[in-house]
Amino acid sequence: MERRDLRADDVAVRVDYCGVCHSDLHALRDHGGRSAGGDEAAGASAAAAAAADETAEATDGGSSVPLVPGHEFIGVVTEIGPEVQRFAIGDVVAVGNIVDACLVCDMCTAGQENFCREFPTLTYGGVDRRDGRPTLGAYAREYVVREEFAHRVPEGLDPSAAAPLLCAGITVWEPLTALEVGPGVRVAVVGLGGLGHLAVKLATALGAETTVISRSAGKLEDARQLGAADLLVSGDGPAMAAARGRFDVIVDTVAVSHELAPYLELLALDGTLAQVGYLGPVTVETTDLLLGRKKLTSAGSGGMAKTAQLLEFCAEHGVVADVEVLPSSRVGEALDRLARGDVRFRFVLDMSDLDVDPS
Ligand SMILES: [Zn+2]
Ligand SMILES: [Zn+2]
Repeated sequence: MERRDLRADDVAVRVDYCGVCHSDLHALRDHGGRSAGGDEAAGASAAAAAAADETAEATDGGSSVPLVPGHEFIGVVTEIGPEVQRFAIGDVVAVGNIVDACLVCDMCTAGQENFCREFPTLTYGGVDRRDGRPTLGAYAREYVVREEFAHRVPEGLDPSAAAPLLCAGITVWEPLTALEVGPGVRVAVVGLGGLGHLAVKLATALGAETTVISRSAGKLEDARQLGAADLLVSGDGPAMAAARGRFDVIVDTVAVSHELAPYLELLALDGTLAQVGYLGPVTVETTDLLLGRKKLTSAGSGGMAKTAQLLEFCAEHGVVADVEVLPSSRVGEALDRLARGDVRFRFVLDMSDLDVDPS
């Protein structure tokens, strides 16, 4: 694949590490393959599988929009456009899941480019605002990005373990900070995947008492190691009943359809359930909110200022993701294992095997 020539305000980044996000799996499935379903158009599955390894053209529906996943990465600046102010060649930078926005609407000027009224340009699967071409992600050795959407990586952050902060991390950081999680706040985190494990680490580092809510009692040791004080098993009726009213904030990271009522019951007066896994339409009994003046909210991704703040916080508090680093050639294995939930807690691809041998 080829990146665009640098515009005046672009930096070229040699991608060193890119996290493997659940969104990448969904994008590949939507692209026509890599699912267990049997209704894929002939050839589409092979195309999507190939897309995981290299750029591939989809053949379904007659369209030919290429897909390259990857939207949480860290690398080194290799080239800068003539008007670039903030970066120099050799700087270590990080990029998340948006790479452009209008920068003038009320959301952008409030530092929430992720909610841009014109919709932000996604790192992959989006359309470039200036040339109209599809954006291709960071399962690649190079990415070219407008400098406003790259972040300086503070000293002391391991780049492979910090890469997942750019999507999984910021997605939980924004609600945690918007809800003023800190000392004295009782937090529960539902689900212990890529997002959940970072939510536990961040809430704990912010000073909150944190509990993991999981289907499995076997997660207790993991929860403790991540800093949680306790584990609550969601299928344990008596334990759930005893925990009624116990939490001020619940961050629910489970991205498959489920009832919210059992979690609303666990909230204290004025407590908030922040649903960060996309569920589509949900049904909520008004009384479950009314009794205790409870709030249901959601969030996704993050603005540039909040992302920079997260990176500084993580460098200061020694917070990074627990990762399993694989060479990029093993991306298929990473995706298959992620689909089975067999990951502790985030796969990160090492892109150095993409270098072409000069001989
Ligand atoms: Zn993501
Ligand atoms: Zn905007």
